[in-house]
Amino acid sequence: MKTKIIDSHFTAFWGVFLNLDCNLNCHYCIQKISHPAKPPAHYQIRTGKEWVRALNAIEGRTKRRFLRRPRVKKLSVLGGEPTIYPDFIYVLDNLDQNWKITVTSNFDSPFFDKDLSLLKETKNKKRLRFNGSLHFVQTPIEKFIENVQKLKKTGVKVHTLFVVLHPAYPDRVLEYKKQLLKIHPRVKLQRFLGFYKGDLYPKGSEECLAKEQKDGIANYTLYQEAFGQKKASAIFCHSDKVLIAPNGDIYNCHYKVYTNHKDKLGSLFEDEVRVHIPREYFLCEDFGFCNPCDSEGHLFRTLDGKVESIAEAKNV
Ligand code: SF4
Ligand code: SF4
Repeated sequence: MKTKIIDSHFTAFWGVFLNLDCNLNCHYCIQKISHPAKPPAHYQIRTGKEWVRALNAIEGRTKRRFLRRPRVKKLSVLGGEPTIYPDFIYVLDNLDQNWKITVTSNFDSPFFDKDLSLLKETKNKKRLRFNGSLHFVQTPIEKFIENVQKLKKTGVKVHTLFVVLHPAYPDRVLEYKKQLLKIHPRVKLQRFLGFYKGDLYPKGSEECLAKEQKDGIANYTLYQEAFGQKKASAIFCHSDKVLIAPNGDIYNCHYKVYTNHKDKLGSLFEDEVRVHIPREYFLCEDFGFCNPCDSEGHLFRTLDGKVESIAEAKNV
């Protein structure tokens, strides 16, 4: 296959969405908050073989280091729930050695009911890890724990477990964290990003139990304006992420992935695709509908040239 070029910073976040579907239905799901008037995008998914051929054809996934092994590109496998993607194991098994793979899962899909022994044999075991989020409004803690342990038995690394810090249940969150620490050393609270009872969280005023997970939000006025899903306006945006939608469309913004937006930068499945991810500010007309997944440390520049940062506290 001919090589593909996606020109971005080597350390920029790369995420691939094999599918957007999920077996759960959390009321706060970040996919559902984009454009409340429209349902989330539905994409035609691609086969595991197509993904593997295309992802392994991307150039520039290693970086030489003095007297050390070359660094390889990190790839986050996201969703939806990626473990329900039909060729999930095939993809994990066949991505080449120039990818370091992190899967983010809810640990509550039918995948975990299967025999996971195939994972024991995967060639990529050393370059593969899972993170898990406990969505306890949907998943009983006992089931989550059972599935974490089942995965651990295959020898695949579980890196971090998160408990979603639902604003209605701070006590339960702390209790679940305690329980998870009994089976895993690295457990974090995941700040609640999204809507609850009509309010966009985090609001800045609530008691924050999740300082341990820095979410890069300090300017809550700007956060509400940019991510509040109320009114669209034009702005210059700064984002160097590489996000690949289930049909291969390449974006640098979660909102645009979740809505199958016209502003795609190219398609991974085009032969000899050449995509340049902007490293400078670029014009976007959808400021106001930004997705909280993109909130961390985000930078904007207004049309009259003023730089605004989500990460810096500001009183307006
Ligand atoms: S597990 Fe994640 S993707 Fe699935 S519904 Fe819940 S928040 Fe959405
Ligand atoms: S301004 Fe918001 S919607 Fe537009 S590209 Fe940036 S993060 Fe995405």
